[in-house]
Amino acid sequence: MRINLPDNAKYIIEKLQNAGYECYAVGGCVRDSLRGVEPNDWDFTTSALPDEIERVFADHPTVTVGKQYGTIAVILDDAPHEITTYRVDGGYSDTRHPDEVSFSSSLCDDLARRDFSINAMAYNERDGLVDLYGGRSDMGFGVIRCVGEPEQRFCEDALRILRALRFAAMLGYSIEQRTAEAILKQRRLLADISAERVRDELLKLLCGEKVDFILRRYRSVIAVVIPELMGTFDFDQHNKHHNRDVYRHIVASVRNIEPDPLLRMTMLFHDIGKPLAQTVDKKGEYHYRNHPQIGAAMTREILRRLCLPNHFIDEVCTLIRYHDVRFEPDTVQLKQFLKQLGPEHMKRLYKIQRADIMAQSSYMRDEKLRKLGAVYTELLRILESGECYSLRMLGISGADLLHLGYRSGKQIGEMLESALDQVIAGELPNEKAALLAYVTATFDKA
Ligand code: ATP
Ligand code: MG
Repeated sequence: MRINLPDNAKYIIEKLQNAGYECYAVGGCVRDSLRGVEPNDWDFTTSALPDEIERVFADHPTVTVGKQYGTIAVILDDAPHEITTYRVDGGYSDTRHPDEVSFSSSLCDDLARRDFSINAMAYNERDGLVDLYGGRSDMGFGVIRCVGEPEQRFCEDALRILRALRFAAMLGYSIEQRTAEAILKQRRLLADISAERVRDELLKLLCGEKVDFILRRYRSVIAVVIPELMGTFDFDQHNKHHNRDVYRHIVASVRNIEPDPLLRMTMLFHDIGKPLAQTVDKKGEYHYRNHPQIGAAMTREILRRLCLPNHFIDEVCTLIRYHDVRFEPDTVQLKQFLKQLGPEHMKRLYKIQRADIMAQSSYMRDEKLRKLGAVYTELLRILESGECYSLRMLGISGADLLHLGYRSGKQIGEMLESALDQVIAGELPNEKAALLAYVTATFDKA
C-alpha cells in the first residue's frame, strides 16, 4: 500500500527519522489519501518529545499548539504542520478532558487513543501502512467503528458521539452495530460537551452528503444538542402542501440544498417555529402564519448558545424570516426586496425556496417551481442590467445635496431614500438632473 506523501510531509518524517525518532502521517490525512481524496491537512505522530521536536526543527518557525498535549506546529511554506508526540490519554473523569496525558514511546498506544478505526491508521514510506484496528477493511465496507469498547470510548469523550455521526454523514458510511447502540445509549453525555466543539462537528455533519439519513436515524442524538427541534418530531402539518411531518420536511429540505454551512443551517431551522405558530380556523384548516418570525427568534437563541459568530446568526435569522415570502416575477417588488436584503440574500432565498418546495408534497409543485423560476429569471435580469435598486447605484449622492445647500444629515438621508423609492417604482429616471429636480421640488431646506 503506497500513499503519495507531499514533499513537506516526506521532509518532516525523514528529518525526525534521521534524528533517530519514529514519525508517521496519521489520522484524517491517511484516511482521505486511501479514499483518493486530497487531505485538508497533514498531521504527524512521533516518538520525539515536544522539546525534541523543537530541537529537530530549530531552523524553522514553530508554534506551540498545546505543549502539554505534545503538539508542535512546524511552519513550512506558510502552512502549519502539526506534529504530536505519541500519547496515551489518562482517565476521563468528566467525559470532556483527559485527566492526564502521558507521552509514550509506542505508536501502538497512540493509535489506541484515537476515535474510530478509519482514523487510527498511520503511514510512512519505511513501514508502509500501520493499521492495527482494521481501518482499511472498515473503509472498504464503509463502516464507522470505535477503536476499543464503544461505551468506554464515548464515556471518555462524548464528542465522539457527534463525530461518529459527522463521519457517517460525510462519508456515507454506516455505523457498526455496537458503536451505534452505544451512541444511542450514551447520547445524553453530549449535553456536557463545550458548545464550540459541538458547533464545529455539527457544521461538518450538516454539510455531509448523507446528512438526511443521519438526521432521521439519530434524531434523538440531535435532540440532546438542539432540544428545540423535538417539537417538530412527528408534528403533523394537516396541510395538503405537505406529505411529511415538520421534522422530516426539514431534513428533506436540508438535503435539497447545496452543502454550504449557512444554507444548510437555515434549512435545519426554517420551520422550527411551526409547532408554536399553529392555528386552526373555523373551517378546521391549519395555518402557520407567524412561523418565520417565531422560528427566527428560536434560531437566534439556539445559535447563540452554540457560539456561532454574530454575522452568521444574523444572516441565518434574516433568511428564515424571509423564507416564506411570496415573491412575484415583478420588477418593482423584486427591486424593493433587493434594496432591503441585497443581491446575495435574494439569490440564497431562491435556493432556499426551491429546496423547500422540493421537500413538500407534489400538490401544485410544478406551478410553484414555474413561478419561482420566473422570479429568479427576473432577479438575474435586474442584476445583470445594472438597473438601480440601492442608494449606492442612485444617480445622486449626499454630496450633491450638501452642494445644493441642504445641511441636515437626517433630511439628506430621507431625500435619498425617497428618490430611490421613486426610481424603483419607475416614477423617475435614475438621472442626476431629474433626481435633483425631484428632491428640490419635494423638500424644503431645513
Ligand atoms: P478532518 O479531515 O475533518 O480534519 P480528521 O479525522 O483529521 O478529519 P480531526 O478533528 O482533525 O479530524 O482530528 C485528527 C485526528 O485526531 C483524527 O483522525 C483522530 O485520529 C484523532 N481525534 C480527533 N478527535 C478525537 C477525539 N475526540 N477522540 C479520539 N481521537 C480523536
Ligand atoms: Mg484534521
